[in-house]
Amino acid sequence: MPEASVIGAGLAGSEAAWQLAQQGITVHLYEMKPEKKSPAHVRDDFGELVCSNSLRSDRLTNGVGLLKEEMRRLDSLILRAADHSRVPAGGALAVDRDAFSGYITKALLSHPCIHVQHGEVTEVPEGPVIIATGPLTSEALSQRIAALPGLTTLNFYDAAAPIVTRESLDMEKIFRQSRYDRGDDYLNCPMDEDTYHAFVAALLSAQTAPVHGFEEKKVFEGCMPVESMARRGEMVLAFGPLKPVGLVDPRTGKQPYAVVQLRQDNEEGTLYNLVGFQTRLLFPEQKRVFGMIPGLENASYARYGVMHRNTFLQAPGFLNAHFEVINRPLTYFAGQITGVEGYVESAASGLLCGLSLGSQLRGEGSVEFPSLTAIGALGKHVSTPNRDYQPMNCTFGLIDSLPVDAQHRKIRKKTERYEKIAARALQWIDDFASTQLYRQGENA
Ligand SMILES: Cc1cc2nc3c(=O)[nH]c(=O)nc-3n(C[C@H](O)[C@H](O)[C@H](O)COP(=O)(O)OP(=O)(O)OC[C@H]3O[C@@H](n4cnc5c(N)ncnc54)[C@H](O)[C@@H]3O)c2cc1C
Repeated sequence: MPEASVIGAGLAGSEAAWQLAQQGITVHLYEMKPEKKSPAHVRDDFGELVCSNSLRSDRLTNGVGLLKEEMRRLDSLILRAADHSRVPAGGALAVDRDAFSGYITKALLSHPCIHVQHGEVTEVPEGPVIIATGPLTSEALSQRIAALPGLTTLNFYDAAAPIVTRESLDMEKIFRQSRYDRGDDYLNCPMDEDTYHAFVAALLSAQTAPVHGFEEKKVFEGCMPVESMARRGEMVLAFGPLKPVGLVDPRTGKQPYAVVQLRQDNEEGTLYNLVGFQTRLLFPEQKRVFGMIPGLENASYARYGVMHRNTFLQAPGFLNAHFEVINRPLTYFAGQITGVEGYVESAASGLLCGLSLGSQLRGEGSVEFPSLTAIGALGKHVSTPNRDYQPMNCTFGLIDSLPVDAQHRKIRKKTERYEKIAARALQWIDDFASTQLYRQGENA
């Protein structure tokens, strides 16, 4: 019987262990709780939700809703547990956290192929392994991971600016240009004097997220939150990230008073980030305050800005699209440590790792999902070269768009487009699931 280790029984590790075990692989599941806990973990059991009890939208016209449905169709343990412990939450999938973690723990402890070992792992083991130790991976193991050949950086802090979808921008107000006539790579949102001062005032009075005790209160100068910069003086932003020099608005023929620049964030050009806008503003406050930027009034956020403690790999160039270390076959990373963001995304990467490593150990080769599926889109995110690599939630901006039809027409209505993308993804998943004959076993 082939064997594999899984380190960490959080959302990603629990799912990975389950997917391996369901293929008949013997799994050694290592978890440091209850002997040692990260500063955010409080429970003794597996699959702990460290903060909110929501697994976010359950609608197929939402990226994470599609991701969950793909996982359901692939017998995800995390989705089984979530559906079993669901509490009323409108269009979202929220859970009773006791019932949720209880379900996962019972399923793993009672699985005949899974052997649980408690205690901190301090070395990267030899042999087939999935490392799923999360954003608060223990210190000793972090050091070992950071030293793995081929890894350029292990990040310990998230300082991510918001990302908006290109299609939600008002291009009547925005102009495309690079500073000093050096091409047209940036989208520029011009502000007049009144707009700038109103924006700074709103920024100064906006509510920010609480800083957890274990997170550093001080910030590096290089990634200072935009609201902290604004606090240093009324004109600091206008001379910093919002400086207008070298830019001329073609509609007025003049240099604007201030400019917010947006930089392309993915290959397809469907996502743009707000340059220099690392922030701790609460998400609704980001929508409200950044909505004052001309052109962003109705912006749709693929990711809000965040700043928190988060251990994650510089995955592009280190992991491939099925989350395996490129130059260390059969070593996988899953979960938030890979640069996916969120409970569901972490579990989804664990699912793909478990399927893929199990398939390799059964002699059938690795499993890769195309980026027309939500799971495959996460694999593409971690493996595509990206200088500004930052953790990402699953959104339709990451999933392949639909091809334009023979008449080069695009479906205009967003919901209709998303429904078609979701149907295409689920068809692929169903076809794939029908080939997984090993699931005929008694635990399937
Ligand atoms: C404070 C905080 C709040 C968050 N809130 C949310 C939220 O509300 N919604 C959301 O979608 N996402 C949230 N996230 C982000 C992320 O989705 C979660 O952290 C998620 O739990 C990540 O899943 P994971 O499996 O990668 O890691 P985890 O769920 O953290 O699991 C990792 C497991 O590995 C164990 N472990 C660590 N090191 C070792 C070691 N050396 N040896 C053995 N075991 C080890 C840990 O004890 C833990 O059980 C939050 C993150 C943090 C830090």
